[in-house]
Amino acid sequence: MTAAQDVLETVFGYPSFRGQQEQIVDRLIAGGDAVVLMPTGGGKSLCYQIPALVRPGTGIVVSPLIALMHDQVQALRLAGVRAEYLNSTQSSEERDRVASDYRAGLVDLLYVAPERLALDSTRSLLSSAPVSLIAIDEAHCVSQWGHDFRPDYLALGELGRIWPDVPRVALTATATRATHADITERLGLQGAEHFVADFDRPNIQYRIAPKNEVRSQLKELIEAQRSPTGEPVAGIVYALSRKRVEQTAEYLNANGITALPYHAGLDAAVRENTQSRFLREEGIVVVATIAFGMGIDKPDVRFVAHIDLPKSVESYYQETGRAGRDGQPALAWLAYGLNDVVQQRRMIEQSEGSEAHRRAQSMHLDAMLALCESVTCRRQQILRYFGQESGPCGNCDVCLNPPETWDGTVAAQKLLSTVVRLDRERGQAFGAGHLIDILRGAETERIRSQRHDELATYGIGADLTAVQWRGVVRQLLAAGLIASRGEYGVLGLSPLSAEVLSGDRVVLLRKDTMEAAPRARKAAA
Ligand code: ADP
Ligand code: ZN
Repeated sequence: MTAAQDVLETVFGYPSFRGQQEQIVDRLIAGGDAVVLMPTGGGKSLCYQIPALVRPGTGIVVSPLIALMHDQVQALRLAGVRAEYLNSTQSSEERDRVASDYRAGLVDLLYVAPERLALDSTRSLLSSAPVSLIAIDEAHCVSQWGHDFRPDYLALGELGRIWPDVPRVALTATATRATHADITERLGLQGAEHFVADFDRPNIQYRIAPKNEVRSQLKELIEAQRSPTGEPVAGIVYALSRKRVEQTAEYLNANGITALPYHAGLDAAVRENTQSRFLREEGIVVVATIAFGMGIDKPDVRFVAHIDLPKSVESYYQETGRAGRDGQPALAWLAYGLNDVVQQRRMIEQSEGSEAHRRAQSMHLDAMLALCESVTCRRQQILRYFGQESGPCGNCDVCLNPPETWDGTVAAQKLLSTVVRLDRERGQAFGAGHLIDILRGAETERIRSQRHDELATYGIGADLTAVQWRGVVRQLLAAGLIASRGEYGVLGLSPLSAEVLSGDRVVLLRKDTMEAAPRARKAAA
């Protein structure tokens, strides 16, 4: 038996590795670097915990989730692992004790918050004893395309220079191709082996519906989800605000559905009680803000419903992923309306943080919208987002009920021709807003100064509104027929664009979202 297998069984009590765990563990034990992309719940922790125990020295785990550190360390201690953490919630006496244990070689795994690792004092402490490996959890934080771009994470790029002989592993559940490349570069992991897990959850049926009377839509949905014997089933309803959580739970209860609200504004005791009822009783629906679900491992959640638009495909995937962990059929349902878009754009505009951060958020939202407006299989879209190609699934609303479409080939050609002309004639590239201005023949300062009113495509798209054009752009992005590149959301050609331009590919666009589009302008005004 290998040392890794032995640790897996005797320390963690599992008979076998899952997915790519074994290859990742072997790679790290042998001293190589790795980049790991695995969905939440996929079992990332063992990938670094086991090599840390097998190799001599202390394994350093960098994690931004300070709130979870205590629990993680506690769980490891119960398994007999000498685990410790260093973060800002500790007293200095406590940190001193951890430091002296570390120096004495009494620590197997040390969890460190990124802001502590940025301190010289922490680095010299860590250099005072052998390090077995360095794991960087939630590695998307290092990327400007990630959700919580943190300056402290950038400093992690130096770790490879400080400890050139120590294997490093970066792990994340949320990475598009752009993020993935960014992580690899910024962490100096060019020599790492990449492990990308299968993100497909075949037992989850994805359904995205236009939002009308969302609460009664939700009620009907929940009633339709009863078990074969008519019993209510467990589910989670996600909403963006506390108020909507409260109101929705009240509404469901008034309609005979046992629903408990859950959000950060409730007492800790109330929240704990909700969690334990959800875990232990049958058929409880929890209406929650995104705060609910982290660390909850309930296998038989039969549905996850979103009554507000998630902020990104990553969050959507992660939240819907809490359904059907037992492998039995489960439903992921989302109601989406144009007000969601208006509201979220406003939230992004008003949000704190850098311009780059707002731009990243805006791109995340666009990708989410593209998924909502997709005319092709939802699962295919989601998997493509994570860099995985697949065929139509036969188990999503689009596959089961193909939406009404219109032929957007000519519109797509107009847009792509504009992209080509700008690129060819001037070596420049622009974002969607400016391209749409050109197509619609707008008279803006930018158009005049760039002399874009002299382009052959100037004004040839006046038959569609700006909002409809944005719908076209989003759907082309979703289908991979146009590419968004660079940090300014600039539009460029994709490998498939040529087929559209040559007329070899028909572009079908959704009718429903296009018809609804002009109303969005009124709502926004
Ligand atoms: P992630 O960090 O990827 O979200 P975790 O490392 O927390 O996932 O693992 C998710 C769950 O799967 C945990 O309950 C963990 O104990 C369990 N698990 C991980 N690997 C295995 C395995 N090889 N066999 C059985 N259970 C496993
Ligand atoms: Zn499908």
